[in-house]
Amino acid sequence: MVATPIGNLGDLSPRALAALQTADLVVCEDTRVTGNLLRHHGISRRLLAYHEHNAAKVRPQILAALAVGQAVALASDAGTPLVSDPGYKLVRAAIEAGAVVHAVPGPSAALAALVVSGLPTDRFMVAGFLPNKATARQKAIAELQAVPATLVLFEAAPRLAACLADLAHVLGARPAAVARELTKRFEEVRRGTLGELAAAYAASGPPRGELVIVVGPPDKTAALDLDEAALDAALLAALATGSPAAAAAELAAATGRPRRELYRRALDLKAARAASRDRA
Ligand code: SAM
Repeated sequence: MVATPIGNLGDLSPRALAALQTADLVVCEDTRVTGNLLRHHGISRRLLAYHEHNAAKVRPQILAALAVGQAVALASDAGTPLVSDPGYKLVRAAIEAGAVVHAVPGPSAALAALVVSGLPTDRFMVAGFLPNKATARQKAIAELQAVPATLVLFEAAPRLAACLADLAHVLGARPAAVARELTKRFEEVRRGTLGELAAAYAASGPPRGELVIVVGPPDKTAALDLDEAALDAALLAALATGSPAAAAAELAAATGRPRRELYRRALDLKAARAASRDRA
């Protein structure tokens, strides 16, 4: 997996350059974008498009190349492949087929935004893109409310102000940053509370270019005041990765509510989820 620049095409690491130069096949999201990158570095290689619409069809072709000992490089349009970009199923299939998979690390918009945000970096969660529609977006934010970590979110510029407003509405006055055009000529980082940033971008209109939103973790000293729907969403999110007891403990710590009450609710939600899976 070859990480590619998120700014200047010249920002390719020597290891990434070598991986692309020596690959028999370069798999990429968009052959025009990666073709430009290769041309910029004087590299000519066989390119194969791999994206969500053709992945299932193309994957066997890539695995066949690996099976005969070819070196395959996977690149995304920008940044690190697999981070909110295609590749995870390909990597899993390659591992299952016995291929050796190497990461060729380099830039990622998520990490670049995190480190310039000024927010805690010891624990963070890259939560990808939130849904476009307000109701679904607010529900998704409620699921993130109790996560005890800095949140890193991708967003498109035209939706920035609305997304920040929903984040402020659900998460309250958390510190945040909007990191735009990172490593490019017009790089800019704006910092403030979610509400301040939402108001600033509502007044100025959508900014240009690409951006990442970084949101500070919940204040450990302030108990989270979740309504019942938000509490259920947070419990379900915790149940996705842990037991009812662990989910209850996490939410008890975050909200100050009795653990036993949360445990009972977690069991109910788990049973309801299992029943709806059986019906589906
Ligand atoms: N895999 C990529 C990575 O590791 O950087 C991220 C892929 S995600 C589909 C693309 C999103 O990353 C964009 O919509 C934008 O939110 C963010 N992004 C990409 N380049 C950026 C940049 N130079 N500055 C700020 N955000 C950027």
